[in-house]
Amino acid sequence: MSDDGALLEIRGLEVVFDGFRAIDGVDLTVRQGELRFLIGPNGAGKTTLIDVITGLTRPAAGSVRFAGTELTGRKEHRIVRLGIGRTFQTSVVFEELTVVENLDLAAGFRRPLPTLLRQRRGVSGTVAEALDTIGLGDLGDRPAGVLSHGQRQWLEIGMLIAQRPRLLLLDEPVAGMSQDERERTGELLTQIARDHTVVVVEHDMEFLRRYASQVTVLHEGRVLVEGDVAAVQADPRVQEVYLGR
Ligand code: ADP
Repeated sequence: MSDDGALLEIRGLEVVFDGFRAIDGVDLTVRQGELRFLIGPNGAGKTTLIDVITGLTRPAAGSVRFAGTELTGRKEHRIVRLGIGRTFQTSVVFEELTVVENLDLAAGFRRPLPTLLRQRRGVSGTVAEALDTIGLGDLGDRPAGVLSHGQRQWLEIGMLIAQRPRLLLLDEPVAGMSQDERERTGELLTQIARDHTVVVVEHDMEFLRRYASQVTVLHEGRVLVEGDVAAVQADPRVQEVYLGR
């Protein structure tokens, strides 16, 4: 980690797809213990940024340092082992296994979750804490296939926590959730952020107002504005590109 407490340091990042600059010179610093929200209109580059951090996409230029280690050029599973966990927009739970078995499996392997899906092997691990954190204690012995959409999302977050990452990257965790589920997710994120550094990609402005403190706005592959949620929302540039005012 660098002297100023930065856990993740992205500098001069560029990602090019067939000549199109999806990320066009991004600098981003996330400090240890932060709960950082990443917002921006569709196509702003949010998922691409997460994909670069987690080794799914290679940048054309720039550096991504995590706890002082350069991540660019490293394979996805090595990045997971360094302590970065992410959720995906598609579900990665094992429907026929119980909630506890899903957590146990994740705890035993520090692997990208889709890789776990291909390597189904039951192992014991530290699950009680994760189960408690995600609030699914009463459903521990139920197959994950019976969970509601929200409960599944919490299970996936629990599976990440069970892998004991230092940094969690969550891609739209409240998408498709009911109001009640959103509130529980907001509380869950707040709780997780006490022990982890968390970056959340989120669209929902109401959710942001309630649970975000530090926000980074991406637009057309660049950081448009960054700072406290109230200041970011009041910024005319954000209102123009993001809120459409
Ligand atoms: P966001 O997550 O903010 O909606 P994305 O990171 O998904 O944005 O996409 C940023 C831009 O890059 C979009 O214009 C998208 O169409 C483009 N893009 C993303 N992935 C690819 C890809 N694999 N090939 C070509 N273009 C891509």
